Amino acid sequence: MTRELSETVVGPKARQVDGQMGTRFRLYPQTPDLDDPEEPETVYVSSPVGTVEEGPADHRMYTVFPIDKPTHYGLHDDDAGQPFLFLPPWDDDIHFPVQPGQDGHFDHIETDTPEFFMAHMFGVTRFTLDIWEGYFGRQIEWHFREDYDRLEISIIPKVDNAFLGWGFLEAGGMESEGKYSPFFLNFDVIAHEVGHAIVYSEIGLPSEHADEPEYFGFQESMADIVALMASLHFDSVTTSLLNNTSGNLYTYNKLSRFAEMSDNNQIRLAANDHVMSEFADGWDSEHKLSQPLTGAMFDIFVDLFHEELLLRDLIPPEMEEISDRLEGDPDYSNILQDDFDKFYALNPQGFKQALEMARDQLGTFVADALPMFGTRRISYSEFGKALEEVDQALTGGENYKIIHRNFLLREIGKYEPGPRLKKPDKHSHSLTDRTISPRDLEIE
Ligand SMILES: [Zn+2]
Repeated sequence: MTRELSETVVGPKARQVDGQMGTRFRLYPQTPDLDDPEEPETVYVSSPVGTVEEGPADHRMYTVFPIDKPTHYGLHDDDAGQPFLFLPPWDDDIHFPVQPGQDGHFDHIETDTPEFFMAHMFGVTRFTLDIWEGYFGRQIEWHFREDYDRLEISIIPKVDNAFLGWGFLEAGGMESEGKYSPFFLNFDVIAHEVGHAIVYSEIGLPSEHADEPEYFGFQESMADIVALMASLHFDSVTTSLLNNTSGNLYTYNKLSRFAEMSDNNQIRLAANDHVMSEFADGWDSEHKLSQPLTGAMFDIFVDLFHEELLLRDLIPPEMEEISDRLEGDPDYSNILQDDFDKFYALNPQGFKQALEMARDQLGTFVADALPMFGTRRISYSEFGKALEEVDQALTGGENYKIIHRNFLLREIGKYEPGPRLKKPDKHSHSLTDRTISPRDLEIE
């Protein structure tokens, strides 16, 4: 990896350091326990202070909390059984919009109020989009821009789901074991939906890729990667990840024990050991089908992190040799953990910088690969090739082995997914009801 690459990555971190530029919000990196919530973390979003208006709203998105909204947006049947599209804008009753503080920021709001819920949804959406626009080096256009200039962000508490569709991002919540879990306070869920918006914009809608099964897994995988990379911008997430593992991400992942070490859902999903042969006879959920690709991407991230640790002399080369040999052997894991504990304690800040560098490298690779990949037939192996081409262009191919090996280990390119065995249900994020555009309805 060349030094030049890292310097071209302009993420929200710079804006956080130079906080005067952006607008402050308070976000929960993990869904809070409503009975005993921790303090949210303060972040800056890119909208210059003073430009975020009541709502919150800026030039890309606006927030509403409808009162008595009968159902969520998307495709529904009317009383006569005729399909109709329910789409923004919501122009009926709403909760009073959130006002900025006198200083133009939105970090003054009590956490257990409807105002905070609105500010949180806007903040997560804006924060995630900022991070990825940083990696793309440009604005990411909305896929629905022919009909709407801005995304409508809304809260509909009684719906146990979150949706991203034609002009809208909606989130509700779920009752589980007598407790209400609000998706509008769940960073991973909202950031995942923003990930769908990015893929729709760069790759296209499901209706354009109906005969490409890996498109559906790809959607979910990228949505998870978008959320994971965004969540790794919280100090509390990277610090607890490193403190829990001393930076030994590789070992835990290889032994499938890593997931237990993390309290972050997105990391638990990514640190999986699924391979493509599991889907060769058919598949029923694009969430499951996404796992080999997400796992490969996570392993690439971990390998990039390792390379950074070596490059910065934060671990000795012998450690990497041992870790390459240790696959599946718990004894080696113990040996290696002692080493990681020792070297992490010497320079935790250095480990953190290496982790952030690996995160930004992967984010840049993905952002550069997506537009070129979008013009091809969508398959995981084609995406691997696009990543290799990006690496060739940016670094002269320094990471070819890392990318190629991790895709091979997931049997990507060796096994194609078989037929879809079950029709998509309401848990499917690519369900036509959600993603349909007015033009699709005219065609049907
Ligand atoms: Zn999804």
